[in-house]
Amino acid sequence: MKAAVMEQIGAPLAIREVNIGEPGPHEVRVRTAAVGLCHSDLHMLHGIYPLPLPAVLGHEVSGVVEAVGSQVSGLRAGDHVVGCLSVYCGHCKICSAGHQVLCQNPDVKLPPGKADRLRLAGNPDQLVSQVFNLSGFAEQILVHENALVKIRDDMPLDRAALLGCAVITGTGAVFHSAKVQPGSTVVVVGCGGIGLSVINGAAIAGAARIIAVDRLPSKLEMARQFGATDVVDASQGDAVAQVMSLTNGGVEFAFECIGLKETAEQCYAMLAPAGVATVIGLFRPDAKIELPALDFLREKRIQGSMMGSNRLSLDIPRLVEFYMQGRLRLDELISQRISLDNINEGFNAMQSGSVARCVVTFPGVGGM
Ligand SMILES: [Zn+2]
Ligand SMILES: [Zn+2]
Repeated sequence: MKAAVMEQIGAPLAIREVNIGEPGPHEVRVRTAAVGLCHSDLHMLHGIYPLPLPAVLGHEVSGVVEAVGSQVSGLRAGDHVVGCLSVYCGHCKICSAGHQVLCQNPDVKLPPGKADRLRLAGNPDQLVSQVFNLSGFAEQILVHENALVKIRDDMPLDRAALLGCAVITGTGAVFHSAKVQPGSTVVVVGCGGIGLSVINGAAIAGAARIIAVDRLPSKLEMARQFGATDVVDASQGDAVAQVMSLTNGGVEFAFECIGLKETAEQCYAMLAPAGVATVIGLFRPDAKIELPALDFLREKRIQGSMMGSNRLSLDIPRLVEFYMQGRLRLDELISQRISLDNINEGFNAMQSGSVARCVVTFPGVGGM
């Protein structure tokens, strides 16, 4: 099969022939229908998070099941599925405590370079790293059954792919991590794919006021389409002061969707007493955040959120229903569809900040 292979840090991905294995007892092989380009792929391409190379990135993926292992009971050939990097075992201490998104059981969550699922064609001794247990920038994926969720056949697979990372992360941060209350006031800092999903989630959760903060007027315009009631252009003066004046003293819920010290600290500063800031953005490994400690006496809180604290098998079908009802905006989230051969151009567009989500599609798969 064809895959976009990362061979060197900073170099364009190379389209290569890669051999994929047969499913083991709990594994499933999927024909890829669509895969989104995510900023964490870009961070990996730039070497911010080291990987054994060669590797195949891509973790926002949908497709059609081709083959299942002998022990797989919940999926069969022909099923439409969404993949997610939050693969979980379901029986470790962390899973049992209800935090399956944090499961680290190495039997299912294999670090890059550990899974023997991909090998270079023509050089079968060369293992290709499976990244995030998915490696979606390829015509097929071979994954643990708990990395997949079956969805309705009438859900368009290109839009479904986005559910697996940007949308489950953004909406889950609202529903599960922060538990946004109807009628509350929310600020969202950073309006890329995740920030727009937070805004959409906050609208679904019934937030009365949703303030979007970004430096790009085009993203603020999109934020309005997704449900923002107010927008703040952070390139035009102090964003914190603007939010404080709009809200007369701060918000109940703040969401950091970029992964920067400055914006995380701004989110905390935008809180009203007893407010909670939820940090979603992906930070550099050495990043640190500084907060005014006296604010803890005002019961202001800051918390992390991993992949929207998701429960995959519940959340993905719910998000599909929201889309089908017209409440979850996925059509607008895709600004570009490209072929696997043009994947490097997609990453270039992402770096220019001009796209919300760029999706690689594989025509002919699952009715695409
Ligand atoms: Zn992602
Ligand atoms: Zn577990």
